[in-house]
Parts: sequence; structure tokens; C-alpha cells
Amino acid sequence: MLQERLKIVVIATIVTSIFSGQLLLAESPKFTKARKNMVQKQLRTRNINDEKVLNAMGKVPRHEFVSKFYSKQAYDDHPLPIGHGQTISQPYIVALMTQLLKLKPDEKVLEIGTGSGYQAAILAELTKEVYTVEIIKELKEKAEKSLKKQEYKNIKLKSADGYYGWKKYAPFDAIIVTAAPEHIPQPLIQQLKDGGRMVIPVGPQGNYQTLWLLEKKGEKLEFHNISPVMFVPLTRQ
Ligand code: SAH
Repeated sequence: MLQERLKIVVIATIVTSIFSGQLLLAESPKFTKARKNMVQKQLRTRNINDEKVLNAMGKVPRHEFVSKFYSKQAYDDHPLPIGHGQTISQPYIVALMTQLLKLKPDEKVLEIGTGSGYQAAILAELTKEVYTVEIIKELKEKAEKSLKKQEYKNIKLKSADGYYGWKKYAPFDAIIVTAAPEHIPQPLIQQLKDGGRMVIPVGPQGNYQTLWLLEKKGEKLEFHNISPVMFVPLTRQ
């Protein structure tokens, strides 16, 4: 008798949570744990020390930005395929590039290479306005869906050749390029505010590139060589 009652209570609870959306929205504890581990073991132990960046990395559900097939590996220390021959960057590289941008809450940032939309979500946790450009239309549409599901309202996406930036919303306080050109696109330099920062991998295809931090100071550009990196190439339309 007691068992029967218990059964009814359990079923009723499950039904109620399905209807209230809890069961559909709650993430599996294994993802929560994997994300925590990622922050502790891959970011804090390296040179990621900006608490705001660490918080964002600890909050955004990276597994929601890769296909189900790869979700178990979403928090591992390497990049993952996202289709169309493209990849979502290794968590450490996302954190490092974000930290270098030194975003303030009221700034405007441009990303070139939306890919999965994950980096855009991290940026959206840190600043008011995020603009992101992706050359492959299908990826832009998929990213838009993932970002909508996560209820981001401060990200604008468009499908175009990001070499030209996004003039309509320029100038930007910060620009992050997540595909590697062979030289720094002039339009991006023009669309950077005075005092603005740009993080960009530059170098030949299929080999190591150099990650640069650029700071615009009046008419001058300051270059800081950060590290060797490996990115997919910035393709042209
Ligand atoms: N930031 C992404 C990963 C980027 S992978 C993420 O968080 O998932 C690099 C992306 O740059 C790819 O999706 C690729 O299609 C895109 N890309 C390459 N050349 C481009 C260009 N000229 N303009 C805009 N996007 C480009």
C-alpha cells in the first residue's frame, strides 16, 4: 500500500517537472562536474586568473554548442569538430583570448568566426554588446539556434566575410578573430576604437600561427606576441 502511494507520488513529481520544464532544462550533473574540473585543471593551473573570465567559463554549457556525438568530450582539453571542416577551440584558448581582451561590462565587441557560437556566449557573459560574423551560412544558423536556446539577447549574428568586419556597428572596443588570416585585415584595424584591443592569430595555413594582441593608441598600434597557436584559416568569399 505504502509502496503504491510512493509510486504515485514519484510519477506525479516526474509529470509535474516535465510540464514545468525542469526536466527538460536541467543539465546532467556529469556536465556540471566536467565544467568545474575544466576550470580548475585546465584554466586556473595555467595563466587564466581573471575571475570574471573564469566565472563565464564555469557557467556557459559548452556541451550545448557541440553535437550530441561529441558532448561527452565537450570539456576535454582539446578542440572539437563542429562540421564543415571547422572546430570549436580548446577551452584554454577561448579563456586566454577572452582574458586578453580585458572587456568591461559596457563595451562593444566584434568576433570574426562565430563557428558554434560558444566564444560569443562567453563574450556575452562579460559585456553588453556582442557582434559576430560567420562565413558559412549553415554554421551561423546553427549557432543562432544554440544561442537562442541559452537565451542570449545581447548577441547579433550575420553571415558574411568577416575580413571586412561589421561597419554598421563599428567602432568596437574589442575585436577577436578565431580563424587565422595571413595578414591583419585593414578593415578590422579601422573598426577598432582608440584604446581598443584586438586578439588575432596570424600566419600561414595548416601550420602554427602567432597569436597577437594589438592595442590601438591614437594613430599607433602596439603589438604583443602572445604564443604559437593553431587555428583554421580565415577563408575569403
Ligand atoms: N569561435 C568559434 C570557433 C571558430 S572556428 C567557436 O566558438 O566555436 C573558425 C570559424 O571561422 C569557422 O566557423 C569558419 O567558418 C569561420 N571563418 C573562416 N573564415 C571566415 C571569414 N572570412 N569570415 C567569417 N568567418 C570565417
